[in-house]
Amino acid sequence: MVVVGSGPGGYVAAIRSAQLGMKTAVVEKDAVGGRCLNYACIPAKAVLRAADVLSEVQDAASFGVTVKSIEVDFPGVTKHRDKVIKTLTGGVGGLLKKNKIDVIEGEASLTKDGNVSVGGKEIEAKNVILATGSVAKPILGLEFGDRILDTQAAWLLSDLPKRLCVIGAGASGTEIASAYGRLGTEVLLLEALPQILPLEDEEIAKAAAKEIGKQGIKIVTGAKVESVEASGKEVSLTYGGETEKFDYLAIAAGRGADTDALGLADVGVETEENGLVKVDGALRTSKKGVWAIGDLTVGPALAHKASDEGVIAAEDAAGQDTHPIDLDAVAGVTFCHPQVASFGMTEKEAKEAGHDVVVGKVPMASVGAPTVYGDRGGMIKIIGDKKYGEILGAHIVGAKAAELITELVVARELEGGYTEVARTVHAHPTFSEAVMEAARAADGWLIHG
Ligand SMILES: Cc1cc2nc3c(=O)[nH]c(=O)nc-3n(C[C@H](O)[C@H](O)[C@H](O)COP(=O)(O)OP(=O)(O)OC[C@H]3O[C@@H](n4cnc5c(N)ncnc54)[C@H](O)[C@@H]3O)c2cc1C
Repeated sequence: MVVVGSGPGGYVAAIRSAQLGMKTAVVEKDAVGGRCLNYACIPAKAVLRAADVLSEVQDAASFGVTVKSIEVDFPGVTKHRDKVIKTLTGGVGGLLKKNKIDVIEGEASLTKDGNVSVGGKEIEAKNVILATGSVAKPILGLEFGDRILDTQAAWLLSDLPKRLCVIGAGASGTEIASAYGRLGTEVLLLEALPQILPLEDEEIAKAAAKEIGKQGIKIVTGAKVESVEASGKEVSLTYGGETEKFDYLAIAAGRGADTDALGLADVGVETEENGLVKVDGALRTSKKGVWAIGDLTVGPALAHKASDEGVIAAEDAAGQDTHPIDLDAVAGVTFCHPQVASFGMTEKEAKEAGHDVVVGKVPMASVGAPTVYGDRGGMIKIIGDKKYGEILGAHIVGAKAAELITELVVARELEGGYTEVARTVHAHPTFSEAVMEAARAADGWLIHG
């Protein structure tokens, strides 16, 4: 097995292949761990965590803890970020070694007979998994560099900007705004659509916007950017007839599959019009012996989706029976504060799809833990179908949403419904009791509320 790319898709595919007895190599043109660990998910979460710590310290007085002076030491934040990256990428390197997986440095392309070529050298491969991820796409005819940042560059800044504009209030753009806004940057977050987090349930996105708007961030939805001019020192941006100047402009408005170097067309691997690689439920491409996973294929561009597909592709290559990934059960999380997490249908989508919709909704503060921990904001919303108590989707805004969502994903994957979640005993006092209460609300017997 030769896996191209060592991100969360590639390294997991490689480990699963090795576990299943295949002699396995990973080709990586940059750094082990892929974009996720080196430039994207992990640095983002490390900086966001610094913002969370700051918020908690700022709130310390309400717990009776006096902090005399609070200061953001941004070099200290970047040190934390870089240490996290080093620790986690080192961990992946260790796992590859432990599983006796060769790491080949260089840029790979496919050869006509289904092998992999790296730096002019052909590596024989019975099976190939493509896991080369995605790259950011600029908009408005701009080019990334200097003052115009893609989302990765936004997380790797070494100085805290004074003024930052973010275009695109999807998960990535909202996270950037939330982190820098709380760390002290004046942030303008522009979104062309009518709500931030456009993929989220309207009510949830509204609740998130209300909280985020208090964090040094000006949110403008329905925004139309008219022009952008960047000099070496600043960016001048005009929207809605107003011109403002920023230290940086971060563009969080879409990514495209990174396939240029692979030579897909030359070897008969078919792609969609949008550049994604065509695959079947087992992630097989149109060329026998070649699989594609992660950001290269249809579905949300998320690390855990990439990893799950890596497992499916490796197991299929090993001749095992596999099941296609259930994209409706892939949760997406925005790690702003409060966190936003969801999977499956929104209330509107469920109604449009003709379900007999039931909504189980509770404020986070309906149970004890959020008050104990001083983080009472937000709500949980379960969208169900009354006939069998099926969970069609779930939407959470609040502290720990990222952790809470998994319970509902697991319930759904085990073919449980909100009725089962409602009758599952949850430890007290925990935030997860709010999940149980939302399930009870859906089932018609909310206790706390
Ligand atoms: C700023 C940001 C924050 C994010 N935060 C999250 C998050 O919190 N949670 C989440 O789930 N997702 C997050 N994502 C999305 C996540 O990063 C991707 O979905 C994930 O990295 C995809 O994994 P992958 O294995 O497909 O590819 P990648 O992680 O992109 O790895 C692909 C690897 O392939 C290598 N490569 C490319 N071409 C070649 C070649 N020809 N030869 C050899 N090597 C090659 C690249 O160098 C790279 O290392 C975030 C994305 C961004 C941009």
